[in-house]
Amino acid sequence: MNKKILTAKATLAALACTLCVNTYAQQYPEPEKMTPGMSEYWTPQPKVVTPGDLCTNSAPSDAIVLFDGKDLSAWESVKGGPAQWTVANGAFTVNKPTGDIQTKQKFESFQLHIEWQVPENITGKSQGRGNSGVFLQGMYEIQILDCYNNETYVNGQTGSVYKQTPPLANAMRKPGEWNVYDIIYTAPVFKEDGTYLYNPRVTVIHNGVVLQNNTAILGTTEYIGFPKVVKHGAGPIILQDHGDPSEPISFRNVWIRPL
Ligand code: MG
Repeated sequence: MNKKILTAKATLAALACTLCVNTYAQQYPEPEKMTPGMSEYWTPQPKVVTPGDLCTNSAPSDAIVLFDGKDLSAWESVKGGPAQWTVANGAFTVNKPTGDIQTKQKFESFQLHIEWQVPENITGKSQGRGNSGVFLQGMYEIQILDCYNNETYVNGQTGSVYKQTPPLANAMRKPGEWNVYDIIYTAPVFKEDGTYLYNPRVTVIHNGVVLQNNTAILGTTEYIGFPKVVKHGAGPIILQDHGDPSEPISFRNVWIRPL
């Protein structure tokens, strides 16, 4: 190729490039210089919620109160009929052997606050000492147990995802004192075939101490055997009547905020 042709080709290429740049510049002008306000958005504003009194753990203004110290009207027996646990002195107590109780209302994801007390005169050992539990969507048990100087298997301790994930700490108060659970739960999303697209997840805070940190729940919390994945929708909060012979535990100040 002679020199003239090469020069002509180079000139045409340069012209094409210039046109290309000009066209690009016309379609996509130089963006405006960023200001702080450009990366801020102002609507929608989060709803205003009046927080409860942290000294008394009272419910925030938008919570559904599941027990206000007076009656179990928000609950029913899992066996059917009214909840038959005992209400007295602003708390309710497991009434063995009437069985588990559950909320009448069903929930998806939520923030749950529940306080519980192991009686001062508690007896028994390991899993037979103040055993109860909070079942999320009626499927997944967060263990309640008297773990104050009471050794048991770690994935069955207070705050475990029962038989799955041990708690990160033991934050038990001694029998006779009130314990506080704050549980943040994200409901699972299922695939068509009934397996998890997204596992359920749970954060458990016990007396201000994180026991579960956005833990993936693997399936049902079986006493015998491994977790099962069972497709489900919205479900109740179930409180366990464990059936061991130790003295029954009590609950108070229960509220929930669907998320
Ligand atoms: Mg239990």
